[in-house]
Amino acid sequence: MPIYAYRCSQCGFEKDVLQKMSDPPLTTCPECNTDNFSKQLTAAGFQLKGSGWYQTDFKGGSSAAKPKADNPPPCQGGTGACPSCS
Ligand SMILES: [Zn+2]
Repeated sequence: MPIYAYRCSQCGFEKDVLQKMSDPPLTTCPECNTDNFSKQLTAAGFQLKGSGWYQTDFKGGSSAAKPKADNPPPCQGGTGACPSCS
């Protein structure tokens, strides 16, 4: 059974719906109850249309991959062990 991506043009609600090929397409948005709920054509078209997934992925990836600031070298002033600190 194929899964269809539906989107409401009224409120932007999105849902993947499992339907038989023979099932009539949904038209009523379960979120705002208007008849603006419509089937998206393909997953590929969906990706082309919205750049949101990419930006989200990029931001999340870069911030997650960013290492924490390097720990300072083990040089504490006052111990006399480091010539540049004393
Ligand atoms: Zn809606």
